[in-house]
Amino acid sequence: MRQNYSTLSDSSIVRNRYICRMENSARAHQIIGNLSSIKERIAQACTKAGRDANEVKLMLVTKTVSAEDIRIALLQGENLIGENKVQELSQKSPLLSDISYQKHFIGHLQTNKIKDVLKYADCIQSVDRLELAEKLQQRLQFEDKYIDIFIQVNTSFEESKFGVHPNHAMELIKAVSKLDRLRIKGLMTIGLFDSNEEKIRPCFQRLAQIKEEANLLPNISIQELSMGMSGDLEIAIEEGATIVRIGTAIFGERIYPDSHYWDENK
Ligand SMILES: *Cc1c(COP(=O)(O)O)cnc(C)c1O
Repeated sequence: MRQNYSTLSDSSIVRNRYICRMENSARAHQIIGNLSSIKERIAQACTKAGRDANEVKLMLVTKTVSAEDIRIALLQGENLIGENKVQELSQKSPLLSDISYQKHFIGHLQTNKIKDVLKYADCIQSVDRLELAEKLQQRLQFEDKYIDIFIQVNTSFEESKFGVHPNHAMELIKAVSKLDRLRIKGLMTIGLFDSNEEKIRPCFQRLAQIKEEANLLPNISIQELSMGMSGDLEIAIEEGATIVRIGTAIFGERIYPDSHYWDENK
């Protein structure tokens, strides 16, 4: 039988609260520990690559992560998060509005969600087609706003992943650069899922190459390379990543496979 709150004895209420606090603090301990391990990995990768650790920003990927857990990380001084689903972004952002941090959208964006994503996102890293860019431009014009964006490139050629084909990336960058409400700040990619790092590396090299080429064009200055996740951040940093996007290594395993987050029908 479900116990009514008023029938709980005082001592059991105290005990329950105590257990709750214990669980919260164990979770906080875990997240804080994971954050420091990740920073250590980033620092070591930078040293190995001869780069300054300040050149690489840590993005916390918070799909399926509760607002309470995100708060724990933000209170440690983290200030950049990435969400894959507009619904999660819309639900969690108001719960964390007392903290100042940057929210990037990193999931597949359907045009019918543009209005909602623009309410909360500071940047959209997943612009991968002209139709989407044009719809963003229209809405931003209507709202008299501007937004930072990244172009997402599918460097692994895996069909399950979104992003413009590398051969068409320049064309898309040129076209998007003509839309004055969108400011192209970077490029984003998801590396190939493979245990062989020499198969992953070319994905990141390709993205870095596209950035170099694009920056030869007039009026284009792309600074950021968003690449590297929990399993491959070291390779990405060696290849020039300026933002690594880390979920699992900070918040633990997710119940859904990543394909769930990359499939627009789910
Ligand atoms: C889930 C996800 C990540 C983080 O992946 P982890 O392996 O959990 O670190 C990074 N980028 C995108 C686009 C994601 O969907």
